[in-house]
Amino acid sequence: EGVAQLLTEAAARWADETAITETGTGATLTWRELDEAAHAQARRLVEAGVEPGDRVVLRLPTSADFAVALYGVLRAGAIAVPLSPQAPAPELEQLLTHCDPRFVIQRGDVDDTELPEVLTALSPRGELGGDPVDLGRAGEDIAVISYTSGTTGPPRGVLLSHRALLANLEQLSRVEGVLVHEDRVLVTIPLFHVYGLGPGLLQATSVGATLVLSERFEPAKTLDDCAEHRVTSIAGVPTMYTEFADLGAEELARGLATVRMLTSGAAPLHPRVLAAIREATGHDVYEGYGLTECAPVVTSTLVTGYPKPGSVGRPLPGIELRLVDSDGTEEGVPLDPDDVADVFESGGDTGLVSIRGANLFSGYWPDGAHGPDAEGWFRTGDVGYLDLDGDLHLVDRANDLIIVNGFNVYPHEVEDVISRLPGVAEVAVVGVVDERSGEAVKAVVVPAEGAALSEQQVSDQCAANLAGYKVPHLVEFVENLPHSATGKLRRLKLR
Ligand code: ATP
Repeated sequence: EGVAQLLTEAAARWADETAITETGTGATLTWRELDEAAHAQARRLVEAGVEPGDRVVLRLPTSADFAVALYGVLRAGAIAVPLSPQAPAPELEQLLTHCDPRFVIQRGDVDDTELPEVLTALSPRGELGGDPVDLGRAGEDIAVISYTSGTTGPPRGVLLSHRALLANLEQLSRVEGVLVHEDRVLVTIPLFHVYGLGPGLLQATSVGATLVLSERFEPAKTLDDCAEHRVTSIAGVPTMYTEFADLGAEELARGLATVRMLTSGAAPLHPRVLAAIREATGHDVYEGYGLTECAPVVTSTLVTGYPKPGSVGRPLPGIELRLVDSDGTEEGVPLDPDDVADVFESGGDTGLVSIRGANLFSGYWPDGAHGPDAEGWFRTGDVGYLDLDGDLHLVDRANDLIIVNGFNVYPHEVEDVISRLPGVAEVAVVGVVDERSGEAVKAVVVPAEGAALSEQQVSDQCAANLAGYKVPHLVEFVENLPHSATGKLRRLKLR
């Protein structure tokens, strides 16, 4: 079975029900219309000479155009490579050279001279009619090359097969409370990122839920959209919820009046935000953990059915998770979260999160290297521990660890301490090269509006709560921190 069959089945079962509503244009599309537009797109690609296995770049915002292009490319037997329509020219060129696409599908109004052959996005209501096209790629055939956000290094092209993407949908479907047919799900996160693509677009297609798509997240406007389109579910990221919470309880309660399910993933959700949203709306935000290589969801607090601040929950049914040390030996005596200070002191029972399941990727473009090992395990770069209930807590990424005179400093721990200081809107802690200690701890702080913070206050707060070697040597105040499209802090860029 292939991913495009999700759409074929949706069109057969729910033909005249709404598949997509665009908040910007107000346009709506039924499953039948989406299906026909995707066939037209596939026909156009085949006529233009696309061959099975060719890459076709989708350079499109979160819109019906994206859905039409994606399903069209898959039906034409090609591999879809979604890229950010906002990527600056040098980054775009680097990615295009890397994936070597046959075509780029983008909106007509984007002007570029350097691209390979460009096909203008087919209007969802464009040249319909004609024979259906479906070249029937499935199973281990690659459906999508998804570039990771590049948080820790140069972007890598993750090979996602039809099998992997469909497996993650099946694993999600076994969790109580996830998307159902009656839902109207808001997606403003990028569809070019696998979070918007899988749990957003593909999952909605698999159950015939209505997608409420928005090209831009603007907190007040997006809340209005939620009310206007009677949104019941949001596939969100922490920055969205933080900005929603900043609008105040009254606005939240009004905007989210029809909501039944809020989910967050891609980066840590602050417990304060979770609490603010619960207080205003009576709803919890369920946190999940995922990676592009896992197509993408690995754990969710929905698995247990209750949110737990600081935890990302348990693996979805069908996914195995274990913690290993750097030579692959299994680690991990469960820990009491109250003893978490010990975790930071000793590195004790933390380990690298390793995953096994049918949702795993097939290695990296171009040659499929560095995929899961011979036993089927994929070792992520995330360090975590399991608490006494068996819920996963992420500590940090192995690459972000700062080593001061041989002592480990987890940025997260220092960030937690600084963020408790009144007047701190956001903080990031990174390692900088230091002649004497190897690395030194540096805190980069965004003060809240109107707050007067001094370096001394930040240092005092750390000295009062942390071992000496963890106290930042350097404190810098900035207006904002660099984030990726899904709201991840870009530490590499910051460094
Ligand atoms: P690159 O590999 O290029 O650095 P990336 O790792 O950001 O990019 P993604 O696949 O977009 O690539 O992101 C996966 C990572 O996001 C995970 O490895 C994890 O570190 C982080 N992450 C995902 N969900 C959560 C969460 N709920 N809480 C904290 N971190 C999360």
